[in-house]
Amino acid sequence: MAEVAQVVNLKSLPEFKNEPWQDFSKAEVRRAMADALAKVRGEFGREYSLLVAGEWTKSGRTFESRNPSNPSQVIGVLQKATPELAAKAVEDAHAYFAEWRKVPAAQRAAMLLKAGDIVRKRKFEFIAWQVFEAGKTWPEADADVCEAIDFCEYYAREALRYDAPPAVPQFPGERDELRYTPLGVGVVIPPWNFPLAIMGGTTTSALVAGNTVVLKPASDTPVNAAKFVEVLLEAGFPPRAVNFIPGSGGEIGDLLVEHPKTRFISFTGSKEVGLRIVELAAKTQPGQIWIKRVIAEMGGKDAIIVDSECDLDAAVQGVLVSAFGFQGQKCSACSRAIVDQSLYDEFLEKLKAKTEAIRVGPAEDPENYMGPVINASARKKILDYIEIGKGEGRLVTGGKAIEHETGGYFIEPTIFADVDRGARIFQEEIFGPVLAVTKARDFGHALELANDSEYGLTGSVYTKNRDKIERAKDEFHVGNLYFNRKSTGAMVASHPFGGFNMSGTDSKAGGPDYLLQFLQAKSIGEVIA
Ligand code: NAP
Repeated sequence: MAEVAQVVNLKSLPEFKNEPWQDFSKAEVRRAMADALAKVRGEFGREYSLLVAGEWTKSGRTFESRNPSNPSQVIGVLQKATPELAAKAVEDAHAYFAEWRKVPAAQRAAMLLKAGDIVRKRKFEFIAWQVFEAGKTWPEADADVCEAIDFCEYYAREALRYDAPPAVPQFPGERDELRYTPLGVGVVIPPWNFPLAIMGGTTTSALVAGNTVVLKPASDTPVNAAKFVEVLLEAGFPPRAVNFIPGSGGEIGDLLVEHPKTRFISFTGSKEVGLRIVELAAKTQPGQIWIKRVIAEMGGKDAIIVDSECDLDAAVQGVLVSAFGFQGQKCSACSRAIVDQSLYDEFLEKLKAKTEAIRVGPAEDPENYMGPVINASARKKILDYIEIGKGEGRLVTGGKAIEHETGGYFIEPTIFADVDRGARIFQEEIFGPVLAVTKARDFGHALELANDSEYGLTGSVYTKNRDKIERAKDEFHVGNLYFNRKSTGAMVASHPFGGFNMSGTDSKAGGPDYLLQFLQAKSIGEVIA
């Protein structure tokens, strides 16, 4: 194990605070960002190995990660895990768990705090990797990196808290206690859209709780994950505690989920893959002696309600950034605006004007508000939905791909009005810059429309009416509900994140219940002699 002799305790740590965002309007911040982009560009094309059973390994099969703003640029070349290596990773993680679980929580937490500190010190560089690999604009990438640091800080504190649970009432004549103990091997399967925050948060929460991890990063953003694994090792996490096995989810996903030594799966991604994992994990395999836990955070079809009694300009702005920030590729993105009939036309007029002022282009250029979508097949899927939308609603603006000299996957921010609740673009997750706008008769109707979804992730309401706020708190069925603000941008600790219904298991990442999912409680009673 690398030297991290230090331990921390909860009382000596400052209270958790969210990592502050950069102010890119400042010349020195822009200069630092430009330097980081240049540095990272100099590392394009580097090869990254697999980390299996504590050894950097090559499989002999590689794949490339490319820049969605400019697909001719190879960000990195990754070794592709074979089924044999994936199985070896799970088996060694199982063997090493016996040692790792005995490392005191205070030491694991110290490692995680150190990891957060390393990312903090190299923040611009991590922002640059996301700009190039995920197509995030500077502020979007900054928010992701800050969230990743927040997860390190927050989960380190949570591991310490669970390590010292409050005393249970003592049964007469006994010494009684409740202890939290880790589970075993966690297979971590994150999406590409928060390449550091979700990948890092799902990996470190499992690790700091004392589990060993097999991380299969998303195939679109494996370099961000490789860089983070390097940070974990630098921070002192033993190489056998975290296996890094990039490769196709379709090819090795089933094996990882079905392996009898896999104890839990922490998945974030689409509903289709999430449900498949739930189903496969439910089937016990020969040699399996536990019921696998599945944490599955999945898609969304998030709505913003614009009520008759609201600040209309604020609502327009909130819908705009929620629908088109990071090209609409957030599970929390607003893809349905449900607008009271009394201000429907005015809302659309204002939103159209603001949307048409959005500049779309390569994410590295800070003048662009929107970058590319993640890859060619995502662009095709989104454009197919736009064609469907043309038959289901009135195209207000957008509706086309944007040809750019770089060949990036750019799409116009697109709005459809007069969309019926039964329409596919009202019901299905598109995961791109496409917004459906629907007219509501009144507030009750707006709530009914918002709840007309199999998903239940985020939702937001713009209203000044206190009674309507209280009613929505009770009736709007989503895991993350906001008032008079955008539907995106959940903050670690203040907005524990996770959805209802087909949006997932409501695990509430960044909240006080989260770590419990990677722990089991042991009740101990001892008769006092
Ligand atoms: P995805 O296609 O489901 O992929 C997610 C992860 O699953 C990737 O690592 C992928 O690997 C892997 N995978 C693919 N097939 C698999 C299989 N058969 N078994 C096991 N793993 C498999 O989703 P995505 O396109 O990356 O992400 C977008 C989706 O994530 C959207 O639906 C979005 O709403 C959702 N999301 C939800 C949350 C939340 O907190 N609720 C947050 C972010 C994103 P490959 O990359 O190799 O295919």
